[in-house]
Amino acid sequence: MSHPRKIASSLARRLKAAGHTAYFAGGCVRDRLLGKEPKDYDIATSATPAQVIRLFPGSNEVGAHFGVVIAKDRGVHVEIATFRTDGSYKDGRRPEGVTFSTPEEDAQRRDFTINGLFEDPDSGEVIDFTGGQADLQAKVLRAIGNPADRFAEDSLRLMRAVRFATTLDFEIEAGTWAAMCEHAMGLQRISAERIRDEFSRIIVLPDRRRGLELLIDSGLIQYFLPEVLPLIGCEQPPQWHPEGDVYIHTLIMLEMLGPEASLELCLAVLLHDIAKPPTRTYDAAEDRIRFNGHDALGAAMAEEILRRLRYPNHVIENVAFMVSRHMQFMNVQNMRISKLKRFMSAPTFTQELELHRVDCGSSNGFTGNLHYLLAKREEFAAEPLIPKPLVTGHDLISLGVPPGPRFTEILEAVQTEQLEGRLTEREGALEWVRKII
Ligand code: ATP
Ligand code: MG
Repeated sequence: MSHPRKIASSLARRLKAAGHTAYFAGGCVRDRLLGKEPKDYDIATSATPAQVIRLFPGSNEVGAHFGVVIAKDRGVHVEIATFRTDGSYKDGRRPEGVTFSTPEEDAQRRDFTINGLFEDPDSGEVIDFTGGQADLQAKVLRAIGNPADRFAEDSLRLMRAVRFATTLDFEIEAGTWAAMCEHAMGLQRISAERIRDEFSRIIVLPDRRRGLELLIDSGLIQYFLPEVLPLIGCEQPPQWHPEGDVYIHTLIMLEMLGPEASLELCLAVLLHDIAKPPTRTYDAAEDRIRFNGHDALGAAMAEEILRRLRYPNHVIENVAFMVSRHMQFMNVQNMRISKLKRFMSAPTFTQELELHRVDCGSSNGFTGNLHYLLAKREEFAAEPLIPKPLVTGHDLISLGVPPGPRFTEILEAVQTEQLEGRLTEREGALEWVRKII
């Protein structure tokens, strides 16, 4: 038995010993039935929050007024929630109040049938008021009760539906899907942060392609990332992009990324061509479509989008940076060594290589630049790409150069000589500087 499961079981046993009912509930039951390690354990109980707190002094009581207490034991946090019915939802985000009730009613307030299961922690017996076991078997995601009402109550469930369908590879039941499409606009009431958290979990999944397709086909994307929609039907020159329009190209790239791809890389792939629709022009003289400047405009758009979704600054900066540089990969074989080394020294370079790999892999199949860069990386591996400077600002001051723009220019020029291998030691470098000033 895993460590968290052991701890959650022992907490449940203490609740039972005090005369209460206590079950594992929701995601941890679902995951065990699927043979997956649950991320965390939730307990549902007949004990009131006050009774739970008395049994487990020192637990976190901030959620007690809506029935949730978090017990901590040997570094494991377990949510212990009193069986409850949610009051009416007025704002599409959270209930007005809660009433403590029965296990059956507690199951009915949950979102999807597969998330409505309870389990007796001792016997392993599953208590199923929602038909969740049959849906797990059939690999179906189905809202509990009337799907339209459930999505109207809480619009975050729209994003959760896409996440569960994607991560579990389940079909969304037809009535549930129809209600999602119908209530998609409810997402406008959900905060950018909560949408972002669900979206991030979807876009990093191995099957992120299907996740994105579900977001688009349901209409959900309209309410948080509408800039993706014009990619659909944005035609590209067939000699470079035999696969089709920018949307198809992007979907294939998302699919080609490895299962472990980072959030930043997944976002950079999704957004790398986001400015192709607004920069698209037709060059009649050459009879071809062009997207001049889509890298720079794309970086600006990526920044705006990710800022709106409240991503942290480091994510925004890295993604925008990768988008801004993705076309430079076509040019690496013409770069001078100094320029190439500076290019490769970016902290995002390894992720950019992967972006470039899938960019070519999903279109023209060209691998020349990728292999060139891999070989160069090996060739340069013995020493740092950007070595310690041979000449410093102090040296320039001693040589009588006044601080100013010229100052940085000289330092950069010395670095270029050093990266090109034309200056290798300090004395020679100082001599070189004396000559140019
Ligand atoms: P995971 O933890 O893997 O994301 P989970 O199903 O455990 O999946 P949680 O957010 O941890 O999801 O929630 C625990 C349980 O609480 C869910 O299984 C579900 O029964 C219920 N639940 C969570 N969010 C909602 C919601 N928005 N509407 C209704 N029930 C919900
Ligand atoms: Mg959970």
